[in-house]
Amino acid sequence: MSHTLFISDLHLCVKQQHCTQVFLHFMRHIAPKAEALYILGDLFEYWAGDDDLDDPFHQQVIRAIHTLAESGTRPFIMHGNRDLLIGKALEKASGATLLGDPTLIDLYGTPTLLSHGDMLCTDDVAYQTYRNQVHAEGWQQLFLSQPLTQRKTQIEQLRTRSEIEKQHKSREIMDVNAEAVAELLREYGYPRLIHGHTHRAGHILHHLDGYTCERWVLGDWHETGNALRCDAQGCHAEQFAATSVNREGSFPKGTRAAATR
Ligand code: MN
Repeated sequence: MSHTLFISDLHLCVKQQHCTQVFLHFMRHIAPKAEALYILGDLFEYWAGDDDLDDPFHQQVIRAIHTLAESGTRPFIMHGNRDLLIGKALEKASGATLLGDPTLIDLYGTPTLLSHGDMLCTDDVAYQTYRNQVHAEGWQQLFLSQPLTQRKTQIEQLRTRSEIEKQHKSREIMDVNAEAVAELLREYGYPRLIHGHTHRAGHILHHLDGYTCERWVLGDWHETGNALRCDAQGCHAEQFAATSVNREGSFPKGTRAAATR
């Protein structure tokens, strides 16, 4: 049966060789069986700008996406907070289509809303202020006008600061806000929602205005990779190691068609 795969939060970087191997294995052996692959943000640990495409590590990743596209699986990329600066050049080099956040798709008859997920973390007021700033076109133009090495240094400093700040933030503050989720679901007509960012893989049902919407949270990648596999019957989470594939869980049988939309 034809199916579609969703992944996010791989945080690929040259230092994480094992994770990169899991990704390359996934791209060679698992993703080509799907009709589409959606990468819902934070593919890279950070992206300083498309002028960093020539980096050999980046080339390896981009080539894997391009090879997948050539094999007949359509790749889509959504920005995460780490790789917000992915632009047209990467889109062209990878053969992927860049998606806005959020994007509503028809997934085998079920309206499905895709998002990275960081915009839903509204309890983290400081982060949302920062997010608004870096999403502004003027800020991005100014940032990208600096030399690449300077940008990389700035990002490294920002990441160090953010890691320190995170230690003082509660788990609740860094999770999605229930009201922000409800608002988004209402705005888009009560779809199924798939997002990443929080690194808390899960399947949550939202009962809202007489509708039941399922929300799938994608897992992050470390020693194993995580993907959500969806077909006309529903979705289930799968885990991948560099050489093996394990089914991790599946949607309870019989509940999807009746209870959700
Ligand atoms: Mn993220």
